[in-house]
Amino acid sequence: MNDSEILSVAEKLAASLDVIVEDKQAILKNMRKTNCPTITILSNGNYTLWIDKYYIAYSKDGKPDVRYVFVSQHHVSEELTEICNMLKDCEPSDYITLSGIREQMREALKSMAASGEDFYLAESEDAGDHRHIELSDEPWLMTLCPKCASQFYDTPSQYIRRTDKSFKETCDYCDSRQGFEYEIVRV
Ligand SMILES: [Zn+2]
Repeated sequence: MNDSEILSVAEKLAASLDVIVEDKQAILKNMRKTNCPTITILSNGNYTLWIDKYYIAYSKDGKPDVRYVFVSQHHVSEELTEICNMLKDCEPSDYITLSGIREQMREALKSMAASGEDFYLAESEDAGDHRHIELSDEPWLMTLCPKCASQFYDTPSQYIRRTDKSFKETCDYCDSRQGFEYEIVRV
């Protein structure tokens, strides 16, 4: 996709989030800085929107999810390596946000492999001009050993509870000890 096509995706997303795009030329200029393309960050006090040459993403203020709408191949590989490193040593409160991003990057890679394109555009639930996908509040499932589970118990922004699964697996957080499956609910 060229810069104007990327801008048009961003404009549609902004419209569906009620974020005003005041200066399109400035966004294009940011994207075209040859040495260091700059990210444009727009906000309306409810949503924050990131527009870059390599990706477009948004989040709802106060919520941990970041949703990618457009990702280039260039960004995916960089981001995946970075996220996997960050996940090894992150706070329990950041774990879901980072895992969510990792999942979207993997999804993007799969989709690019299937389509042969060098970019990924997230499908919006309702077709047409709406590029805005509802951010989910679904509980996040993960396996935690007792030691790691205690760290999640101590995080005020979320609480955890055991699921019905009765057998142990390798802990998602430390990747070494065995533990049970938990549901993590954000509050
Ligand atoms: Zn653990």
